[in-house]
Amino acid sequence: MDVNALVDGYLRDLAFAQSSPQKMFGYKRAAAAILSLDMPLTDLLGPDGVLPKISGIGPGSTRVIREILETGASPTVEQAIERSERRADIERRRELRRHFLSRAEVRRILTDSGSSGPTVDQYRGDLQMHSAWSDGSSTVEDIANACLARGYQFAAVTDHSYGLRIAGGMSMDDAAAQRLAIEAVNGRHKGRFRLLQGIEANIDATGQLDLTPDEAKTFDVVLAAPHSRLRKNEDQTDRMLAAVQHPTVRILAHPRGRIAGSRAGVMANWEVVFEAAAQRGVAIEIDGDPARQDLDYTLARQALESGCVFALDSDAHTTAQLSYAETALAHARLAAIPVDRIVNCWPMDRLLAWLSNPSAECRR
Ligand SMILES: [Zn+2]
Repeated sequence: MDVNALVDGYLRDLAFAQSSPQKMFGYKRAAAAILSLDMPLTDLLGPDGVLPKISGIGPGSTRVIREILETGASPTVEQAIERSERRADIERRRELRRHFLSRAEVRRILTDSGSSGPTVDQYRGDLQMHSAWSDGSSTVEDIANACLARGYQFAAVTDHSYGLRIAGGMSMDDAAAQRLAIEAVNGRHKGRFRLLQGIEANIDATGQLDLTPDEAKTFDVVLAAPHSRLRKNEDQTDRMLAAVQHPTVRILAHPRGRIAGSRAGVMANWEVVFEAAAQRGVAIEIDGDPARQDLDYTLARQALESGCVFALDSDAHTTAQLSYAETALAHARLAAIPVDRIVNCWPMDRLLAWLSNPSAECRR
């Protein structure tokens, strides 16, 4: 059992049962602190059953944590929900936290010799991250150095394209300047590391991208991702099908656009989308951002059955967030995806061959 995820859930329930915005903020902060702990709370308990001081956790949260560790549930939270008259909203949010892993659980899965699937050592490079050229915070130079420190052989910087203004989408002029910056970085790391210039194109309501095919061709790798219509209770299979059938797209990134406890994202007949992706050799992404975890291992298993290849990416917006790739690796291990189906684990020459001709990797 993922005890930290269980505690996170109860603390978020308690947050949404508050009428004071300050208290709500405090419980949310406590939940986030628990979710990002490296160790399960059960391992942090002292021999006397006392929890050590955890930054961001107040006395109210500590009481709830103790209850859960002792009984597996929290009467305190249940009573707060009862008093709040917000049960329906809280139940809805509970549903939207299914199949999310805590950081401690991710770390356990990565070292669990019983799970199959890719290991950290087999992961050669990350194919979704953002730089200061759109909504990230780092230069391409800092990104290259951070990737090298993680032992990567390659990575793709995938800033947003110009259609997504809200995320600082990059103009084509900016993209040309970024290309020069990337080439300068690659010149310095020749022979041991290569940064690819990618783009995260936005999928519009009809499944088209926010850049022309000629513009898309200037990038080494094109990711397509939904950022709108993520709360619609309607089928969007045609939209996602159009996106994976776009000739320049190589990776369908955060396919649903779900956010933990907030929104379910795109609803579609995923089997149909996965079959089309497998036929074209388009990779389905497991986005490792802890709030996204999209696909999770349950849907990833379906995509594997359809014959898809996968991209396991961090979606980092800071170099510290490059560790989010481990969340994606954990889901891939739970889904038992063979290393051969994961583009991040391929040697550079196979990766480049796939980028220039994805159908080479169809249903191998
Ligand atoms: Zn995105």
